[in-house]
Amino acid sequence: HAFERISGTDERIGAFLALNEEGAREQAKALDVQIADGGERGLLFGLPAGIKDNIVTEGLRTTCGSKFLANHDPIYDAAVVTKLHAAQSVTIGKLNMDEFAMGGSNENSAFGVVRNPWDLERVPGGSSGGSAASVAAGQVYFSLGSDTGGSIRQPAAYCGVVGLKPTYGLVSRFGLVAFASSLDQIGPITKNVEDSAYVLQAIAGHDERDSTSAKVDIPDYTAALTGDVKGLRIGVPKEYLGQGIDPQVKERVLEALKVYESLGATWEEISLPHTEYAIATYYLLASSEASSNLARFDGVRYGVRADNPANLIDLYRKSRSEGFGPEVKRRIMLGTYALSSGYYDAYYKKAQQVRTLIKRDFDQAFEKYDLIVGPTAPTPAFKLGAQVGDPLTMYLNDICTIPVSLAGVPAISIPCGMADGLPVGLQIIGKPFDESTVLRAAHAFE
Ligand code: GLN
Repeated sequence: HAFERISGTDERIGAFLALNEEGAREQAKALDVQIADGGERGLLFGLPAGIKDNIVTEGLRTTCGSKFLANHDPIYDAAVVTKLHAAQSVTIGKLNMDEFAMGGSNENSAFGVVRNPWDLERVPGGSSGGSAASVAAGQVYFSLGSDTGGSIRQPAAYCGVVGLKPTYGLVSRFGLVAFASSLDQIGPITKNVEDSAYVLQAIAGHDERDSTSAKVDIPDYTAALTGDVKGLRIGVPKEYLGQGIDPQVKERVLEALKVYESLGATWEEISLPHTEYAIATYYLLASSEASSNLARFDGVRYGVRADNPANLIDLYRKSRSEGFGPEVKRRIMLGTYALSSGYYDAYYKKAQQVRTLIKRDFDQAFEKYDLIVGPTAPTPAFKLGAQVGDPLTMYLNDICTIPVSLAGVPAISIPCGMADGLPVGLQIIGKPFDESTVLRAAHAFE
Protein backbone atom coordinates (compact mmCIF):
# COMPACT_ATOMS: atom_id res chain seq x y z
CA HIS A 1 0.00 0.00 0.00
CA ALA A 2 2.80 2.41 0.92
CA PHE A 3 4.61 1.85 -2.37
CA GLU A 4 1.39 2.29 -4.36
CA ARG A 5 0.68 5.51 -2.54
CA ILE A 6 4.22 6.75 -3.18
CA SER A 7 4.09 5.97 -6.88
CA GLY A 8 0.78 7.86 -7.11
CA THR A 9 1.97 10.98 -5.26
CA ASP A 10 5.73 11.36 -5.12
CA GLU A 11 6.18 12.71 -8.60
CA ARG A 12 4.47 15.84 -7.32
CA ILE A 13 5.87 15.90 -3.79
CA GLY A 14 9.47 14.68 -4.15
CA ALA A 15 9.74 13.31 -0.62
CA PHE A 16 11.75 10.17 -1.38
CA LEU A 17 15.40 9.92 -2.42
CA ALA A 18 15.61 6.10 -2.28
CA LEU A 19 13.04 3.34 -2.06
CA ASN A 20 13.66 0.08 -0.24
CA GLU A 21 11.12 -2.04 -2.18
CA GLU A 22 12.89 -5.35 -2.11
CA GLY A 23 14.21 -4.91 1.43
CA ALA A 24 10.78 -3.87 2.73
CA ARG A 25 9.05 -6.84 1.17
CA GLU A 26 11.63 -9.20 2.66
CA GLN A 27 11.26 -7.56 6.05
CA ALA A 28 7.46 -7.85 5.89
CA LYS A 29 7.62 -11.49 4.83
CA ALA A 30 10.00 -12.31 7.67
CA LEU A 31 7.55 -10.68 10.10
CA ASP A 32 4.71 -12.83 8.72
CA VAL A 33 6.77 -15.96 9.28
CA GLN A 34 7.66 -14.87 12.80
CA ILE A 35 4.00 -14.34 13.69
CA ALA A 36 2.94 -17.61 12.04
CA ASP A 37 5.52 -19.31 14.27
CA GLY A 38 3.77 -17.89 17.31
CA GLY A 39 6.12 -14.94 17.79
CA GLU A 40 4.92 -11.79 19.52
CA ARG A 41 4.02 -8.59 17.71
CA GLY A 42 6.46 -5.75 18.30
CA LEU A 43 5.46 -2.23 19.31
CA LEU A 44 5.45 -0.97 15.69
CA PHE A 45 4.53 -4.25 14.03
CA GLY A 46 4.32 -3.91 10.25
CA LEU A 47 4.13 -0.12 10.19
CA PRO A 48 5.66 1.48 7.06
CA ALA A 49 8.36 3.98 8.08
CA GLY A 50 10.40 6.58 6.21
CA ILE A 51 13.88 7.55 7.38
CA LYS A 52 15.53 10.94 6.89
CA ASP A 53 18.49 10.58 4.58
CA ASN A 54 21.10 11.64 7.16
CA ILE A 55 20.41 8.49 9.21
CA VAL A 56 22.55 5.65 7.91
CA THR A 57 20.94 2.44 6.68
CA GLU A 58 23.02 -0.61 5.84
CA GLY A 59 23.17 -1.15 2.08
CA LEU A 60 20.50 1.48 1.47
CA ARG A 61 21.77 4.66 -0.18
CA THR A 62 22.25 7.55 2.25
CA THR A 63 23.11 10.89 0.65
CA CYS A 64 22.28 13.57 3.27
CA GLY A 65 20.78 15.46 0.32
CA SER A 66 24.33 16.10 -0.92
CA LYS A 67 26.09 15.48 -4.21
CA PHE A 68 29.09 14.60 -2.06
CA LEU A 69 27.41 11.38 -0.93
CA ALA A 70 25.50 10.70 -4.16
CA ASN A 71 26.99 7.18 -4.31
CA HIS A 72 27.25 6.38 -0.58
CA ASP A 73 25.91 3.02 0.61
CA PRO A 74 26.55 2.68 4.35
CA ILE A 75 27.92 -0.51 5.83
CA TYR A 76 25.94 -0.36 9.07
CA ASP A 77 22.59 0.74 10.52
CA ALA A 78 22.14 3.73 12.81
CA ALA A 79 21.07 2.86 16.36
CA VAL A 80 17.54 4.14 15.70
CA VAL A 81 17.22 1.96 12.60
CA THR A 82 18.23 -1.14 14.57
CA LYS A 83 15.66 -0.16 17.21
CA LEU A 84 12.90 0.31 14.64
CA HIS A 85 13.67 -3.14 13.24
CA ALA A 86 13.46 -4.59 16.73
CA ALA A 87 10.04 -2.93 17.11
CA GLN A 88 9.11 -4.51 13.74
CA SER A 89 8.35 -1.47 11.61
CA VAL A 90 9.22 -1.75 7.92
CA THR A 91 11.66 0.67 6.27
CA ILE A 92 10.06 2.00 3.08
CA GLY A 93 12.82 4.37 1.99
CA LYS A 94 14.97 7.42 2.57
CA LEU A 95 13.57 10.92 2.75
CA ASN A 96 14.71 14.12 1.08
CA MET A 97 16.23 16.88 3.19
CA ASP A 98 18.28 20.07 3.05
CA GLU A 99 21.90 19.20 2.35
CA PHE A 100 23.51 17.98 5.60
CA ALA A 101 20.37 19.26 7.40
CA MET A 102 21.30 22.89 6.79
CA GLY A 103 18.19 24.79 5.89
CA GLY A 104 14.59 25.50 6.74
CA SER A 105 12.74 24.95 3.47
CA ASN A 106 14.17 21.82 1.82
CA GLU A 107 15.31 23.95 -1.09
CA ASN A 108 18.97 23.17 -0.29
CA SER A 109 18.76 19.51 -1.35
CA ALA A 110 21.07 18.60 -4.22
CA PHE A 111 18.31 16.28 -5.49
CA GLY A 112 15.42 18.69 -5.91
CA VAL A 113 12.91 20.48 -3.71
CA VAL A 114 10.14 18.84 -1.71
CA ARG A 115 6.67 20.32 -2.12
CA ASN A 116 4.16 20.88 0.66
CA PRO A 117 1.20 18.47 0.20
CA TRP A 118 -1.22 21.21 1.34
CA ASP A 119 -0.11 23.56 -1.45
CA LEU A 120 2.41 22.36 -4.02
CA GLU A 121 3.65 25.92 -4.59
CA ARG A 122 4.86 26.11 -0.99
CA VAL A 123 7.81 24.70 0.92
CA PRO A 124 7.30 21.79 3.34
CA GLY A 125 9.79 23.38 5.76
CA GLY A 126 13.17 21.94 6.54
CA SER A 127 15.49 20.45 6.96
CA SER A 128 13.34 17.31 7.48
CA GLY A 129 10.98 18.38 4.69
CA GLY A 130 10.72 14.95 3.11
CA SER A 131 10.00 13.37 6.50
CA ALA A 132 7.11 15.76 7.20
CA ALA A 133 5.67 15.82 3.66
CA SER A 134 5.63 12.02 3.35
CA VAL A 135 3.61 11.63 6.56
CA ALA A 136 1.26 14.46 5.56
CA ALA A 137 0.74 12.85 2.14
CA GLY A 138 -0.05 9.45 3.67
CA GLN A 139 2.93 7.74 2.02
CA VAL A 140 4.25 6.30 5.30
CA TYR A 141 2.67 5.92 8.73
CA PHE A 142 5.53 7.69 10.43
CA SER A 143 9.01 8.95 9.74
CA LEU A 144 12.18 9.87 11.55
CA GLY A 145 13.63 13.35 11.25
CA SER A 146 16.55 15.13 12.88
CA ASP A 147 16.39 18.46 14.67
CA THR A 148 19.39 20.72 15.27
CA GLY A 149 17.61 24.07 15.43
CA GLY A 150 14.03 23.18 14.53
CA SER A 151 14.25 20.73 11.66
CA ILE A 152 11.65 18.29 13.02
CA ARG A 153 9.25 20.81 14.56
CA GLN A 154 9.14 23.46 11.82
CA PRO A 155 8.42 21.11 8.87
CA ALA A 156 5.86 19.28 11.04
CA ALA A 157 4.16 22.65 11.64
CA TYR A 158 4.20 23.59 7.94
CA CYS A 159 2.81 20.18 6.90
CA GLY A 160 0.14 19.86 9.61
CA VAL A 161 1.63 16.81 11.35
CA VAL A 162 3.16 16.06 14.76
CA GLY A 163 6.93 16.44 15.24
CA LEU A 164 8.80 15.72 18.46
CA LYS A 165 12.34 16.80 19.29
CA PRO A 166 13.39 14.77 22.32
CA THR A 167 15.68 16.02 25.10
CA TYR A 168 19.29 16.12 23.93
CA GLY A 169 20.76 12.72 24.83
CA LEU A 170 17.50 10.73 24.99
CA VAL A 171 17.87 9.18 21.53
CA SER A 172 21.19 7.79 20.30
CA ARG A 173 22.98 9.76 17.58
CA PHE A 174 25.03 6.73 16.57
CA GLY A 175 24.68 6.60 12.79
CA LEU A 176 23.23 10.10 12.43
CA VAL A 177 25.55 12.04 10.11
CA ALA A 178 26.75 14.86 12.38
CA PHE A 179 25.83 18.48 11.60
CA ALA A 180 26.21 20.18 15.01
CA SER A 181 26.88 17.42 17.50
CA SER A 182 25.94 19.38 20.64
CA LEU A 183 22.46 20.07 19.21
CA ASP A 184 21.48 17.20 16.87
CA GLN A 185 18.64 14.94 18.01
CA ILE A 186 16.57 12.35 16.14
CA GLY A 187 12.81 12.24 16.70
CA PRO A 188 9.50 11.02 15.28
CA ILE A 189 7.18 12.73 12.81
CA THR A 190 3.69 11.23 13.02
CA LYS A 191 0.05 11.85 12.22
CA ASN A 192 -0.96 12.17 15.86
CA VAL A 193 0.43 12.36 19.39
CA GLU A 194 -0.28 8.75 20.32
CA ASP A 195 1.86 7.55 17.40
CA SER A 196 4.58 9.95 18.51
CA ALA A 197 4.60 8.32 21.97
CA TYR A 198 4.87 4.85 20.42
CA VAL A 199 7.74 5.74 18.11
CA LEU A 200 9.60 7.58 20.89
CA GLN A 201 9.18 4.49 23.08
CA ALA A 202 10.84 2.41 20.38
CA ILE A 203 13.84 4.69 19.74
CA ALA A 204 14.68 6.20 23.18
CA GLY A 205 17.31 4.80 25.49
CA HIS A 206 20.98 4.73 26.40
CA ASP A 207 23.56 3.68 23.83
CA GLU A 208 27.22 3.34 24.77
CA ARG A 209 28.23 4.06 21.16
CA ASP A 210 27.07 7.69 21.60
CA SER A 211 29.12 9.38 24.34
CA THR A 212 26.40 12.03 24.84
CA SER A 213 23.64 9.45 25.25
CA ALA A 214 21.96 9.86 28.65
CA LYS A 215 21.61 7.10 31.21
CA VAL A 216 17.99 7.67 32.21
CA ASP A 217 15.07 5.36 32.83
CA ILE A 218 12.62 5.32 29.94
CA PRO A 219 9.04 5.66 31.19
CA ASP A 220 5.95 4.25 29.49
CA TYR A 221 5.13 7.24 27.28
CA THR A 222 1.68 6.02 26.24
CA ALA A 223 0.71 5.77 29.92
CA ALA A 224 1.05 9.57 30.03
CA LEU A 225 -1.77 10.05 27.51
CA THR A 226 -4.50 10.44 30.10
CA GLY A 227 -6.28 13.47 28.69
CA ASP A 228 -5.89 15.15 32.06
CA VAL A 229 -4.10 18.50 32.20
CA LYS A 230 -5.84 19.90 35.28
CA GLY A 231 -3.52 22.07 37.32
CA LEU A 232 -0.76 22.23 34.70
CA ARG A 233 1.02 25.58 34.78
CA ILE A 234 1.93 26.99 31.37
CA GLY A 235 4.29 29.88 30.66
CA VAL A 236 3.88 31.75 27.38
CA PRO A 237 7.01 33.71 26.38
CA LYS A 238 6.15 37.19 25.17
CA GLU A 239 9.21 37.00 22.90
CA TYR A 240 7.49 34.24 20.89
CA LEU A 241 4.35 36.28 20.20
CA GLY A 242 5.90 39.66 19.49
CA GLN A 243 7.35 41.31 16.41
CA GLY A 244 7.53 39.25 13.23
CA ILE A 245 4.81 36.78 14.26
CA ASP A 246 1.96 36.50 11.76
CA PRO A 247 -1.25 37.78 13.45
CA GLN A 248 -3.18 34.66 12.42
CA VAL A 249 -0.53 32.40 13.93
CA LYS A 250 -0.74 34.40 17.15
CA GLU A 251 -4.54 34.11 17.09
CA ARG A 252 -4.39 30.29 16.73
CA VAL A 253 -1.94 30.04 19.65
CA LEU A 254 -4.18 32.18 21.87
CA GLU A 255 -7.16 30.00 20.93
CA ALA A 256 -5.16 26.90 21.87
CA LEU A 257 -4.39 28.46 25.24
CA LYS A 258 -8.15 28.96 25.77
CA VAL A 259 -8.62 25.24 25.14
CA TYR A 260 -6.04 24.50 27.84
CA GLU A 261 -7.84 26.85 30.21
CA SER A 262 -11.10 25.05 29.57
CA LEU A 263 -9.34 21.78 30.40
CA GLY A 264 -8.21 23.11 33.79
CA ALA A 265 -4.68 24.29 33.04
CA THR A 266 -3.53 27.84 33.72
CA TRP A 267 -1.26 30.11 31.72
CA GLU A 268 0.63 33.34 32.18
CA GLU A 269 2.84 35.49 30.05
CA ILE A 270 6.52 35.07 30.88
CA SER A 271 9.80 36.38 29.52
CA LEU A 272 12.79 34.46 28.18
CA PRO A 273 14.95 37.58 28.01
CA HIS A 274 17.88 36.17 26.04
CA THR A 275 15.72 35.00 23.11
CA GLU A 276 16.90 37.91 20.96
CA TYR A 277 20.47 36.49 20.97
CA ALA A 278 19.46 32.93 20.13
CA ILE A 279 19.73 33.08 16.35
CA ALA A 280 23.18 34.68 16.32
CA THR A 281 24.36 32.25 18.99
CA TYR A 282 23.00 29.22 17.16
CA TYR A 283 24.38 30.12 13.75
CA LEU A 284 27.83 30.67 15.26
CA LEU A 285 27.88 27.44 17.26
CA ALA A 286 26.15 25.23 14.68
CA SER A 287 28.39 26.51 11.88
CA SER A 288 31.52 26.06 14.01
CA GLU A 289 30.61 22.47 14.83
CA ALA A 290 29.64 21.84 11.21
CA SER A 291 32.96 23.16 9.88
CA SER A 292 34.71 20.63 12.08
CA ASN A 293 32.31 17.72 11.46
CA LEU A 294 32.36 18.19 7.69
CA ALA A 295 36.17 18.08 7.53
CA ARG A 296 35.82 14.31 7.09
CA PHE A 297 34.42 14.85 3.59
CA ASP A 298 37.74 15.05 1.83
CA GLY A 299 37.21 12.96 -1.29
CA VAL A 300 39.28 10.15 0.21
CA ARG A 301 37.11 8.43 2.77
CA TYR A 302 33.52 8.84 1.63
CA GLY A 303 31.47 9.59 -1.41
CA VAL A 304 32.52 11.39 -4.52
CA ARG A 305 36.19 11.92 -5.46
CA ALA A 306 37.19 14.64 -7.95
CA ASP A 307 38.87 13.52 -11.17
CA ASN A 308 42.49 14.28 -12.11
CA PRO A 309 43.70 16.17 -9.03
CA ALA A 310 47.18 17.71 -9.33
CA ASN A 311 48.08 16.67 -5.75
CA LEU A 312 46.48 15.85 -2.39
CA ILE A 313 45.49 19.44 -1.53
CA ASP A 314 43.98 19.79 -4.98
CA LEU A 315 42.01 16.58 -4.40
CA TYR A 316 40.50 18.04 -1.22
CA ARG A 317 39.80 21.38 -2.84
CA LYS A 318 38.22 19.98 -5.97
CA SER A 319 36.17 17.32 -4.20
CA ARG A 320 34.81 19.83 -1.68
CA SER A 321 34.19 22.53 -4.30
CA GLU A 322 32.25 20.12 -6.51
CA GLY A 323 30.57 18.10 -3.75
CA PHE A 324 29.10 20.76 -1.43
CA GLY A 325 26.27 23.13 -2.29
CA PRO A 326 26.27 26.89 -1.54
CA GLU A 327 24.59 26.80 1.90
CA VAL A 328 26.98 24.14 3.19
CA LYS A 329 29.95 26.16 1.93
CA ARG A 330 28.57 29.28 3.61
CA ARG A 331 28.34 27.46 6.96
CA ILE A 332 31.81 25.93 6.66
CA MET A 333 33.28 29.37 5.96
CA LEU A 334 31.37 31.01 8.84
CA GLY A 335 32.41 28.24 11.22
CA THR A 336 36.03 28.17 10.16
CA TYR A 337 36.23 31.93 10.60
CA ALA A 338 34.60 31.83 14.04
CA LEU A 339 37.01 29.12 15.23
CA SER A 340 40.20 30.66 13.87
CA SER A 341 42.85 31.85 16.28
CA GLY A 342 42.38 35.47 17.20
CA TYR A 343 38.61 35.27 16.66
CA TYR A 344 37.82 32.27 18.83
CA ASP A 345 37.32 34.22 22.07
CA ALA A 346 35.28 36.94 20.40
CA TYR A 347 32.87 34.60 18.61
CA TYR A 348 32.86 30.95 19.61
CA LYS A 349 33.58 31.44 23.29
CA LYS A 350 31.13 34.34 23.57
CA ALA A 351 28.44 32.27 21.85
CA GLN A 352 29.01 29.43 24.33
CA GLN A 353 28.55 31.89 27.19
CA VAL A 354 25.33 33.25 25.73
CA ARG A 355 24.10 29.68 25.23
CA THR A 356 24.41 29.22 29.00
CA LEU A 357 22.32 32.35 29.58
CA ILE A 358 19.64 31.07 27.18
CA LYS A 359 19.56 27.74 28.98
CA ARG A 360 19.25 29.60 32.28
CA ASP A 361 16.13 31.41 30.97
CA PHE A 362 14.51 27.99 30.58
CA ASP A 363 15.76 26.67 33.96
CA GLN A 364 14.25 29.69 35.68
CA ALA A 365 10.93 29.43 33.83
CA PHE A 366 10.67 25.74 34.69
CA GLU A 367 11.00 26.53 38.40
CA LYS A 368 7.50 28.02 38.15
CA TYR A 369 5.89 26.35 35.14
CA ASP A 370 5.44 22.77 33.94
CA LEU A 371 5.43 23.69 30.26
CA ILE A 372 6.25 26.56 27.95
CA VAL A 373 3.91 27.08 25.00
CA GLY A 374 4.07 29.22 21.88
CA PRO A 375 4.04 28.99 18.11
CA THR A 376 6.46 26.63 16.34
CA ALA A 377 7.22 29.09 13.55
CA PRO A 378 6.36 32.76 13.03
CA THR A 379 4.40 32.12 9.81
CA PRO A 380 2.77 29.23 7.94
CA ALA A 381 4.61 27.65 4.98
CA PHE A 382 5.96 30.24 2.54
CA LYS A 383 6.18 30.04 -1.25
CA LEU A 384 8.94 28.04 -2.93
CA GLY A 385 11.71 30.40 -3.99
CA ALA A 386 10.51 33.25 -1.76
CA GLN A 387 13.49 33.16 0.64
CA VAL A 388 16.22 31.12 -1.06
CA GLY A 389 18.21 34.19 -2.03
CA ASP A 390 18.03 35.65 1.45
CA PRO A 391 19.71 33.43 4.05
CA LEU A 392 19.21 35.92 6.90
CA THR A 393 15.42 35.99 6.46
CA MET A 394 15.51 32.21 6.27
CA TYR A 395 17.46 32.06 9.57
CA LEU A 396 14.87 34.30 11.29
CA ASN A 397 12.16 31.65 10.77
CA ASP A 398 13.92 29.64 13.50
CA ILE A 399 13.34 32.18 16.27
CA CYS A 400 10.90 29.98 18.25
CA THR A 401 12.68 26.64 17.81
CA ILE A 402 16.37 27.53 18.19
CA PRO A 403 16.32 28.63 21.86
CA VAL A 404 14.81 25.24 22.74
CA SER A 405 17.62 23.45 20.87
CA LEU A 406 20.30 25.53 22.59
CA ALA A 407 18.75 24.65 25.97
CA GLY A 408 18.57 20.95 25.04
CA VAL A 409 14.99 20.57 26.28
CA PRO A 410 12.20 18.55 24.61
CA ALA A 411 9.47 20.11 22.46
CA ILE A 412 6.65 18.95 20.24
CA SER A 413 4.84 20.70 17.40
CA ILE A 414 1.17 19.80 16.96
CA PRO A 415 -1.38 21.20 14.51
CA CYS A 416 -3.54 23.99 16.01
CA GLY A 417 -5.76 25.12 13.19
CA MET A 418 -5.26 26.91 9.91
CA ALA A 419 -4.26 30.30 8.54
CA ASP A 420 -5.39 31.00 4.96
CA GLY A 421 -5.76 27.29 4.23
CA LEU A 422 -2.34 26.39 5.67
CA PRO A 423 -1.60 24.50 8.89
CA VAL A 424 -0.29 26.30 11.99
CA GLY A 425 1.91 24.56 14.57
CA LEU A 426 1.67 24.87 18.35
CA GLN A 427 4.94 24.27 20.17
CA ILE A 428 4.86 22.68 23.62
CA ILE A 429 8.20 22.74 25.44
CA GLY A 430 9.03 20.66 28.52
CA LYS A 431 11.61 20.14 31.24
CA PRO A 432 14.63 17.97 30.42
CA PHE A 433 13.58 14.31 30.03
CA ASP A 434 9.95 15.18 30.80
CA GLU A 435 8.63 14.06 27.40
CA SER A 436 5.70 12.50 29.29
CA THR A 437 4.24 15.86 30.30
CA VAL A 438 4.85 17.28 26.81
CA LEU A 439 3.02 14.32 25.24
CA ARG A 440 0.23 14.44 27.82
CA ALA A 441 -0.50 18.10 27.10
CA ALA A 442 -0.22 17.63 23.34
CA HIS A 443 -2.56 14.63 23.42
CA ALA A 444 -5.15 16.44 25.57
CA PHE A 445 -5.33 19.22 23.00
CA GLU A 446 -6.00 16.81 20.10
N1 GLN B 1 17.04 25.91 9.94
C1 GLN B 1 18.09 25.57 10.85
C2 GLN B 1 19.42 25.54 10.12
O1 GLN B 1 19.43 25.78 8.97
C3 GLN B 1 17.80 24.27 11.52
C4 GLN B 1 18.34 23.08 10.81
C5 GLN B 1 18.16 21.81 11.60
O2 GLN B 1 17.52 21.77 12.64
N2 GLN B 1 18.80 20.77 11.10
O3 GLN B 1 20.44 25.30 10.70
